[in-house]
Amino acid sequence: MYPGMLMEREVTAAMPRVLTYHDVVEEHPDASGFPGGGPALYKLPARVFARHLDAIAATAASPILLPQLRSSHVDDATPLLITFDDGGVSAANIIADALERKGWRGHFFVTTDYIGRKGFMTSAQIRDLTSRGHIIGTHSCSHPRRMSACSPQILRDEWHRSRMVLSEILDKPVTAGSVPGGYYSENIAIAAAASGLTDLFTSEPTTRMTMVNGLRVYGRFSIYRRTPLTKVTAIASGRRLAIVREAVAWELKKAIKLAGGETYLKLRKLILDRQHRYLL
Ligand SMILES: [Zn+2]
Repeated sequence: MYPGMLMEREVTAAMPRVLTYHDVVEEHPDASGFPGGGPALYKLPARVFARHLDAIAATAASPILLPQLRSSHVDDATPLLITFDDGGVSAANIIADALERKGWRGHFFVTTDYIGRKGFMTSAQIRDLTSRGHIIGTHSCSHPRRMSACSPQILRDEWHRSRMVLSEILDKPVTAGSVPGGYYSENIAIAAAASGLTDLFTSEPTTRMTMVNGLRVYGRFSIYRRTPLTKVTAIASGRRLAIVREAVAWELKKAIKLAGGETYLKLRKLILDRQHRYLL
């Protein structure tokens, strides 16, 4: 056995449905989170986000938090969790209020190098979210574009430092994280486990939870600006066909990304940024 070696990998019975949102904006998409055309695809106008929450509530699903998921008191075999990536300022000034109006709380994954920068939450806002009952986790320090291509040392550093920064801000250990960029590999989970995380969310659209070196790894379903409401409710209510469809579409996208590598990312950015400038 050597450091970083994979110790265990097993599938457990828990099948949570986890939704991934990013920013929610009132006007200009660049007001919260990462700027540009690519990130804008993931940002929902506030009125659309409110409709999503109404639709989720209508399915009778009440989102729960990680500590409840881990407790043995979960009635639902496929509970629903809601997560928000990047740490954009809309978490503090729009999203938390919208969730709380429903009596819900969310998970917010913060990119720590951006704390206090334009469009991102400050330390005080992150502390405030925790005091209101939301969960804060790490989304890495620098938000690598292709995290699966990072060396084990860089991966360990991204998780360790970001966890330390957030634990210091909150004055308590931060143990949850989400993988930035949509590129997942088992090395990412091995490094996350070694840096002390206990729960890691990927962007793989699955309800299956796996264990990697004691770390719980959950899949998630990404919600885009243009995701139809019917799809959101189908996933939130655990409709099998909707979940399988997401998995098939994701595998296809992964194959294209793998074939294209860096060229795929550069071309995607070029096209989306041009569109973004044109539209705004
Ligand atoms: Zn992200």
